[in-house]
Amino acid sequence: MVRTGTVYLVGAGPGDPDLLTLRAARLIESAGLIIHDGLVDRAILAMAGPDAELVSVAKSRARHTLPQDAINALLVREALAGRDVVRLKGGDPLVFGRGGEEAEACQAAGVPVEIVPGISAANGAAAAAQIALTHRDASSVVSFVAGQCKGLSEQDWAGLAGKGRTLVIYMGVKTAPQIAEKLMADGLSPEMPLAVIENASRPNMRVLRGPLAALPDLVVAERVKSPALIVIGEVTAREDIALAALVEAHA
Ligand code: SAH
Repeated sequence: MVRTGTVYLVGAGPGDPDLLTLRAARLIESAGLIIHDGLVDRAILAMAGPDAELVSVAKSRARHTLPQDAINALLVREALAGRDVVRLKGGDPLVFGRGGEEAEACQAAGVPVEIVPGISAANGAAAAAQIALTHRDASSVVSFVAGQCKGLSEQDWAGLAGKGRTLVIYMGVKTAPQIAEKLMADGLSPEMPLAVIENASRPNMRVLRGPLAALPDLVVAERVKSPALIVIGEVTAREDIALAALVEAHA
């Protein structure tokens, strides 16, 4: 009887290979088969051994190479054939990574799964741009939401952004105008500061700032491309807050 392989759902972090966990790095270096997303940085894939088979199941809004069901089936098929599979995903596998669905498909087929966490884009981007997601003076709540088209208007974001709160939006570049409109319709000030962090932790990272009302223009004028995160809240203008506190203290 063929031994069933294990599927390792591995987070590859935001891009910089130095941000991999040791567990992820060891699995990548010793893998026979790596099934990866388009978001996984080339420098990370280059860590695989010379005999490793690399399979891309890249997904982007425009280009769907493999539907999710087919990815699930591929993982199960390889594991049942006896191969250990390193399923490599950008960021953390369980944050907007559909890792939950892949784990469920494997479990349903009797395939053992191990999940290796990764640094999610929000954490990687916050560190690289030196934005505190929470801050004693500015924010005690942080929320992660998905800004992609499907179902955006039905999503209830009321109360997630505003004074004392930080909202991190994944996959929001294309829908930036709808996002700004939605948040302002929920009562958020057009002046609320935000930062757009593109290619966080990679050599070509950019951090752009502006008020909420200017988000659609900012994205167009600066030609912001995926992958990028939108962080909304006073924490993105921390220096201003530090200054305001200072002025207050001396008033
Ligand atoms: N599982 C991933 C998220 C996948 S969804 C994670 O935990 O990070 C894909 C979205 O993640 C992108 O559209 C973008 O919003 C964000 N993202 C991923 N890597 C990024 C990076 N290096 N810089 C900025 N945003 C990134």
